Amino acid sequence: MRIAVIGGGAAGLAAADELLRLGHQVLLFERAPVVGGQLRTVAIADTRLECFYHHLFTSDTLMAQLIQELGLSQKLRWVASRVGFFTDGRIWDFVTPLDLLRFRPLPLVDRLRLGLVSLYLQRQSDWRRYEDGTAQEWLKRWAGENAYQVVWGPLLTGKFGSAAPEIGMTWFHWKMRLRFGSRRGMGREHLGYLEGSFAQVWEALAQRVAAAGGRIYTQAQVEGIQAEEGRVTGISLRLPEGPLGRQAVEEGLAQPAAGDLLFPADRVIATIPSTVFLRLAPELPEQYVRLLTGTRYQAVMCLILVLRHPLSHIYWLNISDRSIPFVAVIEQTNLMGPQHYGGKHVVYLSNYIARDASLYQMADQEVLEAYLPHLARINPAFRRDWIEEWHLFREDAAQPIITTGYSRRIPSLETPVKGLYLANNTQVYPEDRGQNYSLRIGRQVARLAVGHGDEA
Ligand SMILES: Cc1cc2nc3c(=O)[nH]c(=O)nc-3n(C[C@H](O)[C@H](O)[C@H](O)COP(=O)(O)OP(=O)(O)OC[C@H]3O[C@@H](n4cnc5c(N)ncnc54)[C@H](O)[C@@H]3O)c2cc1C
Repeated sequence: MRIAVIGGGAAGLAAADELLRLGHQVLLFERAPVVGGQLRTVAIADTRLECFYHHLFTSDTLMAQLIQELGLSQKLRWVASRVGFFTDGRIWDFVTPLDLLRFRPLPLVDRLRLGLVSLYLQRQSDWRRYEDGTAQEWLKRWAGENAYQVVWGPLLTGKFGSAAPEIGMTWFHWKMRLRFGSRRGMGREHLGYLEGSFAQVWEALAQRVAAAGGRIYTQAQVEGIQAEEGRVTGISLRLPEGPLGRQAVEEGLAQPAAGDLLFPADRVIATIPSTVFLRLAPELPEQYVRLLTGTRYQAVMCLILVLRHPLSHIYWLNISDRSIPFVAVIEQTNLMGPQHYGGKHVVYLSNYIARDASLYQMADQEVLEAYLPHLARINPAFRRDWIEEWHLFREDAAQPIITTGYSRRIPSLETPVKGLYLANNTQVYPEDRGQNYSLRIGRQVARLAVGHGDEA
């Protein structure tokens, strides 16, 4: 079969690779100039860095296998991470049970309760029992109002904004399981990072796809998905003027049609956000549209600072103080030392945010100006002239908002249009979005599309 894959992020590349392995013809369309999607990178100090922070948990076994298959294992580092909280005007280490005992923003009894609840959640494997309650209700009930106000509440609000009270407990439970699962015994969490960036994995996979005969068209924004009598027939797009489009026509892969190019296909797999899919898809039954529109997304903006000096000793600093306009400070060089970045210190200031929020709409320079005064609260020695370079990146469909009863509202991978499939982060559950699960869902949808039938 000839299969068109829309999107050259992790899921699209995984699907293309699997389809080729199963003996099908693949045409992959990516609107950006390069593949990688949310794993795109920026050049920093003679190396590359993800535009949005990335690491692996020890449970990301599919990723570890893929990295090995692609011959990149020697670059994979597992590092003890340092997590902290910024609250009450200072940084609190939040790594070991001892750190929790020293966490004075909470009364001792609440610290103990928080520790016991975290331990309990980590050991529960049945996520279904948490499906119908919110994280807020559950945490307030079992960890207590204080722990919620000081620790979990600010984190949930930081990630989901005004939707925080709606977040399902299943989402929270799995997040805890994964994070604690990445600890070695009672010790520190270990996180994985690929020296030189994870983009290398996805570029190597793209090379494998091309070597197996798959066509990857970049700067190729799909404008529509065609169907006739309820069955998909192909996709249409506007390729930039140039040899790619002409070649596709010469090879009989595409036909010019009123300024567009039509690529006929037996199957179409879309790995784009549901919001984009809705614009491209042929008419879909109302019930499926309701499922697609039922999951909202939080956008993300990450400001990357390249500094002369370290900001703190923490890799992942949760900002509980909501008077600070970002929710986490992720100091990459506290995971991979500054020696990997030409001796510089690299920091992400991260913010999950609604797309229509005024901060998200601000010009880049304005965002920088809004953030900078707060850095001296985290490190009083910080001065503006520490900054050697900065970059700001935004992603609209960064984090699906996972509410209660979510398993009953996930759009199926197989859409009601025959031959048309959808695989994106909103269908990853009960785990949270991540490269490992994009890889899994990309392979699943590929097998489903060609009738391999073991997609469950
Ligand atoms: C801030 C942030 C932090 C993260 N941290 C981690 C982490 O620590 N660890 C981890 O494992 N994962 C992390 N992730 C998640 C991980 O990046 C994603 O799970 C993964 O990249 C999603 O891949 P995807 O292929 O599903 O989607 P995407 O990467 O979004 O790929 C979709 C692709 O479709 C393309 N596209 C869209 N519309 C069209 C069109 N009309 N025509 C053609 N192409 C189109 C886009 O350009 C894009 O390349 C993070 C994500 C974010 C945003």
